Formats: sequence, structure tokens, C-alpha cells
Amino acid sequence: MFQGGSTFQKAVLDAVGQALFVLEVGDDGLPRYALMNRKGRSLTGFSPGEYEGKTALELFGGAVGEHAFALHKRVLEARVTQTYEVTLPYVQRTIYLNTTLEPIFNDAGILTHLVGTSNDVTSERELDMALELTKIAKEKAEEANQAKERFLANMSHEIRTPMNGILGISELLNETELDDQQALFSNTIYKSATALLKIINDVLDFSKIQADKISLQDQAFSLRDQVEDVGALLWSRADNKGIDLRTEYPETIPDTFIGDAHKIRQIILNLLGNAIKFTERGHIALGVSYRRDACLPLRISVSDTGPGIGDDQQNIIFSAFEQVDSTATRRVEGTGLGLAITKALVERMGGKITVASTLGQGSTFSIDLNLQIARDTKVLSRPPQAPLTSFRNKKTIQSASRTDALSTQPIQMMNGLRIIVADDNKTNQLLVEKILAPTGANLRFANNGQQVVEAYKSSRCDLILMDLSMPKLGGIEATHVIRAFEKKADWPACTIIALTANAQPSDVEACLAAGMNDFLTKPFRKKELLTLIKSSCSVLIEHGYD
Ligand code: ADP
Repeated sequence: MFQGGSTFQKAVLDAVGQALFVLEVGDDGLPRYALMNRKGRSLTGFSPGEYEGKTALELFGGAVGEHAFALHKRVLEARVTQTYEVTLPYVQRTIYLNTTLEPIFNDAGILTHLVGTSNDVTSERELDMALELTKIAKEKAEEANQAKERFLANMSHEIRTPMNGILGISELLNETELDDQQALFSNTIYKSATALLKIINDVLDFSKIQADKISLQDQAFSLRDQVEDVGALLWSRADNKGIDLRTEYPETIPDTFIGDAHKIRQIILNLLGNAIKFTERGHIALGVSYRRDACLPLRISVSDTGPGIGDDQQNIIFSAFEQVDSTATRRVEGTGLGLAITKALVERMGGKITVASTLGQGSTFSIDLNLQIARDTKVLSRPPQAPLTSFRNKKTIQSASRTDALSTQPIQMMNGLRIIVADDNKTNQLLVEKILAPTGANLRFANNGQQVVEAYKSSRCDLILMDLSMPKLGGIEATHVIRAFEKKADWPACTIIALTANAQPSDVEACLAAGMNDFLTKPFRKKELLTLIKSSCSVLIEHGYD
């Protein structure tokens, strides 16, 4: 048994805060417990009568005993100090001990004892494990978020395709001879489909914001143009309610800035749209001001004489799905996502959004930004990589006083233009046919990418309207094949316009990179399609086809 363990020495060892134990190497070469100080006893739960003279295998038994016994033998064999970690089952939990085991030799150099000291590292290990679990939970949440985003993007695509049919055909229906009741029904279909599309777009935007997927594009753009465009776009909506809508952009303020014109436009559209939606009488002003000394010098504000928002509601309206619960606003449609999206966009641009409002008097929403003024101005009227729908509207929904040549022009101007329409959806084929047939264009149809390639090779065309998701060969792949073929055959490149429900900016990039010339998001308006064809094929339309 352990020699020299006097009462005094044992009391000294008990006073040590660390767990300490001594193993004595027997004649059979096996290390057996001879001593544990108080801390050691309290951690293992053994009294001297229980541990004295036992190997780790005998004392702990099972896997714990085997592991500890193997570690003890390892030090006996290596004859040097070793540090390792052991786990011990402890009252209802596992404790983790960081242990150093040191061999003790007698004067003759014989290894007689092992002295171990153990630190309880349970809280560190538990923290490590908690961090690991948090990491796993975070990864799982990210995966779930990505899956949700993919799902929403797919759903948005799936919904946009039939929406194109509903909106397009009801638009065409509106142009036919209808009695009053039929016109009312047809208009209602059109308006409801437009409202549904807005909800789909909001939900998709919101999911992108949640997944932190908003990317900004820095381009020089004319803010003045954007403000005037949005004003012109929404003017008739305000006018229909008898509300005066003014835009104020003083001459002294710079025109062009570097920023994401598409997102700025979306922000102004949201704020102005809300002002018109909630205001029943009075006026609305969309104004721009610039204070050179401020850290956010550019201010775009929208003021209205609407119902106003109470102090207690002014913060919550920027949260998702929140709407002011008052009779004045409850009857108005909306998802409650508009301001949450607007706030996220503004903050992503490093700006801030504020509201000043008095109940019964009106509201002013202001966004403050620090956009760089564009000096060397190669100004974009629209960013190249944004889906065109909203930008094309500029030309299609101008105030009534402006002449709109487009509605009549294509009828004479597309005579003989050879167009292949590639779309696997028969409703969309029908829609494009109904829009383009009256223009005199020469139309052929392909149901998939392979067919469009074959149709083009067998007989050239001037323009291909290309869907992206098609069976057999997608629109991007078909474009690659066509461009390669044109090069080889020394044919002039035909114009290819993507006509697709894939509405992400990355889809636009992919289309342009594949060699397409332009991009139109479904659902599109009749005039948007005609405008785009006219601008993409302007040379052919003006100088004739070969
Ligand atoms: P939505 O308009 O779809 O309900 P928003 O996030 O754009 O969602 O707006 C949230 C709420 O803020 C609205 O439901 C409305 O109660 C309030 N709100 C927004 N703009 C105005 C405004 N100009 N005047 C009065 N209330 C407004």
C-alpha cells in the first residue's frame, strides 16, 4: 500500500483545490489507486475503502475503466508525463477532466508510482458543445432559408407563367368589343391579376431580404428621370381619386448619381403608391432636396394629406406584415410588406428612412441617402441588368396627353419581320400570336429549345423570342447552340430576346452572357413586348429585311 501517506500529508493534499490521485505500481506491474485527495474523492464519488488497492478497470468498470486503465499503462510504458482528457459519469451528468499523469521513480530508477492531477474542464467542454450545437443549428437555419428561397423563386416562376396568360389575354379581351358588363368583368380580372402579381413580387423581395440576398448595382443614373417617371407612372392613379400629385426637383440639385436606379425606383414607387393608396383628398408631393453638409445629403420625401399614423404606430409599420389597425386604413388592400422591404433596401444602401406624421393631417416619409454624384456621366435611363418590365412602363404608361405612337406603329412596321417564338406553354404561344399577328410579322412557333434550333437552322429569322425553361434544351443552351452555328455558317446574328418568368437579376446576366440581346419578364404588357421588339429590331424595321 501507499507508503508515507501520513495524516498531515493527507490533510495537506486535501487542502489542494485540484483533484489529485496516486497509483502505486504493484509487483505484478499493475497501477492501483493508493490515494485520492478530497477533490478527487468528490469528483469520483469514491471513499478510500472503495478505491484503495483497485486498478482503474476494477474501480470504474466498463468503458470508462478500460480507457483510464489503458492511459495509466501508457504512462508506465512511456515512462514520461502525459496529459489527456477523460470523461467520468457523475451524478446525472458527465464531467470532463483534463489530467496530467506523472511517473515517480525510486532511487534505483524503478517506476513505483503514478501521480495524477485533474482539472475539471466540464464548463469549457459544455460551452464548446453548445457553440457546436449553435453552429449546427445556424447551418441548418441557413439551409432552410436557402431551401425557402429556392422554393419561392420556383413558385414565383410557376405563378408568373399562368399570370402571363391571365394578364395578357384579359388585356387583349379589353381591346375587343365588349358591353359594359363584360368590360367590367374583364377589367376586374385584369386588376385582380395585377394585385396578385404585386403580392408575388413583394413576397419574393421579402424572402430575398430575409436571406440577405439583396445585391446592389452601382451605375450612374438620372434621379431626375426616375422621379419624373414614377410621378408620370402614378399620376393617373392619383388623378382618378381627385388628388393632386406634384413632383419637386429643384434645378440646383444634381441630376445624376451613382447607385442602384432600379432599387431607388422601387423605393419611390412603394412610398408614392402608399401615399396614393391611403389618401382620399388633398395632395401628394414627391420632392428631392440636397444638403451638401449633411452626412446623408440626398433626401427623397413623399408627403400626403392622408389619414396620418399615430405616434405609437410609427415604428411598427416598418416591420413585416404590420398594418395600422384603424378603420381608415384597414379597408385598403396590402400585405404589410412594402415598408419592410423599403426600409431594408434603404438601409442596405447605407441610408435611413423616417416618417413624420400627425393623425388626421397626413404623413411625410423621407429617405436620406449618401449617393455619390456622377461627374463623368454616362447616364443610364435604365440599368442594363434589371428586368425590364418596370422600366419599359415608362414609355407605356405616360400621362394621357403624350402621344403614344407605339399602339399604331407596329401594325404597319413589323410586316414581314421573321420571328420564331420558343415557348413550351401553349397559352403563352397563343398570347404572343395574338399580340404579334396583327403587326404583319411572319411567325413560327417552337415548343422546346431543340425545335427552335432546328427551325432556325432550316430557315433563318430576324428575331427569336426565347423562353428560358423549356424541355429538351433550355433557352440559354439553345442560344449558345444558335450563336455557335451562326459563327460557323457565317450568318449574321439574329436578335434573341428572352421572354421569361425567371425574374432574378442573375437570370438577366445569364441571358446576356449566353449571347441574348435583351430580356423581358413575364408577365409582360402588350406594349412592352411591342416596344422591346421595335427597339431591338429598329435597324431591320427601318431599313427592311433581307
Ligand atoms: P401595405 O401598404 O401593403 O399594407 P406597407 O408596409 O407599405 O404595407 O405599409 C404598412 C402600413 O403602414 C400600412 O398598412 C398603413 O397602415 C401604414 N401606412 C403606410 N403608408 C402610409 C401613408 N402614406 N399614410 C397612412 N398610413 C400609411
